[in-house]
Amino acid sequence: MSETLRENALLRDTHDPLAKLRGKFVLDEETVYLDGNSLGALPAHVPDRMADVITREWGRLRIRSWDESGWWTAPERIGDRIAPLVGAAPGRIVVSDSTSVNVFKAVVAATRLSTDDRDEILVDATTFPTDGYIAESAARMTGRRIVPVAPADLADAAGPRTAAALVNHVDFRTGRLHDLPGTTAALHAAGALAIWDLCHSAGALPVGLDEHGVDLAVGCTYKYLNGGPGSPAYLYVAERHQAAFDSPLPGWNSHADPFGMTPGYAAAEGAARGRVGTPDILSMLALESALDVWDGVAVEDVRAKSLALTDFFEECVAAYVPAGRVASLTPRAHSERGSQVALRCAEAPAVMAELIRRGVVGDLRRPDVLRFGFTPLYVGFADAERAARILAEVLAEIPAEAPAPQASEVRREAAPDLDS
Ligand SMILES: *Cc1c(COP(=O)(O)O)cnc(C)c1O
Repeated sequence: MSETLRENALLRDTHDPLAKLRGKFVLDEETVYLDGNSLGALPAHVPDRMADVITREWGRLRIRSWDESGWWTAPERIGDRIAPLVGAAPGRIVVSDSTSVNVFKAVVAATRLSTDDRDEILVDATTFPTDGYIAESAARMTGRRIVPVAPADLADAAGPRTAAALVNHVDFRTGRLHDLPGTTAALHAAGALAIWDLCHSAGALPVGLDEHGVDLAVGCTYKYLNGGPGSPAYLYVAERHQAAFDSPLPGWNSHADPFGMTPGYAAAEGAARGRVGTPDILSMLALESALDVWDGVAVEDVRAKSLALTDFFEECVAAYVPAGRVASLTPRAHSERGSQVALRCAEAPAVMAELIRRGVVGDLRRPDVLRFGFTPLYVGFADAERAARILAEVLAEIPAEAPAPQASEVRREAAPDLDS
């Protein structure tokens, strides 16, 4: 059986149109890297570009680089490079700050685009924690009330009191993909705004922000976009909202005339309105350079490979792992699946530690979830087969502690993890 799956994997890798992209990343043959949904791998050309940014742009040109090296316009320029990956036209995305900060801007701005009688903000009940914490504070500041709602129930929950809903496109724990077009349409029918967090979807699957009429969106760039640790996040504002978008953090970088240095604030036009203060140029330019790997890559091809990879990994797990040791929390249906496989396993902490020691790098979501992220740009089918095979070996050595896990028992865990 394992011979067949191994041959099958090699055959699939041979026919994979994206296989050649792996060579653009710094990876080693000993490791199967399945944590690109937490920190994307380093594109191999980025160090040279960063050496140039530091020695020439910063070292020799110094302050002239704000103009001559295009530092000042980087947030919008890089936003326009991310735009096609999430289905946005140019001019709608600005790169700035962290996802957490952009959640704050988006939630407060959504209440300001709404009306005062709409006093509820619906928040994805399974959200990545930071979104929930920030939304709660934004609600307190704006006199709204947070209502936690499972993403599948948002359409029913939205009503005349709903100002906006903040939803994760893909559940960071289970890998479940939520219905962005349908939920957005239902929110609009109720007169509410849709704010989507794309952290676990951008760079892994088509999003279609413009096409589906999303109002506001945020996302990070260090997961499937490989921008580097702590690379800046982005904020999308639909064209129809740009003129009225009223940022709660109107820093001088978002001023219509930033170098006028006037005491009164006047918002810039367009995406720049989402800026706050001086951007983190080194991280910003590392991200810009990292985005080169996307040149000529179609998100549809990435999605096709992602689904094939996660299907194949599940097939290998089913073939190799003794029954009852793991249960997948990731939906089988392609329409409900992101680009990861989450396996519930009673011995998850010990199992993940041992997997990492043996070169299969996924991550643990406490207390009992083994998470494996599949980045189609650099993960292949042989990697998926090897990860499943080593998982089975590790499980054979670590005795089962508890009764077989049930996928339906997954529960939300309140404590945040350091990464994501
Ligand atoms: C990764 C992730 C974040 C991270 O936020 P930071 O401000 O970059 O730490 C936020 N939301 C979601 C849904 C995530 O997956």
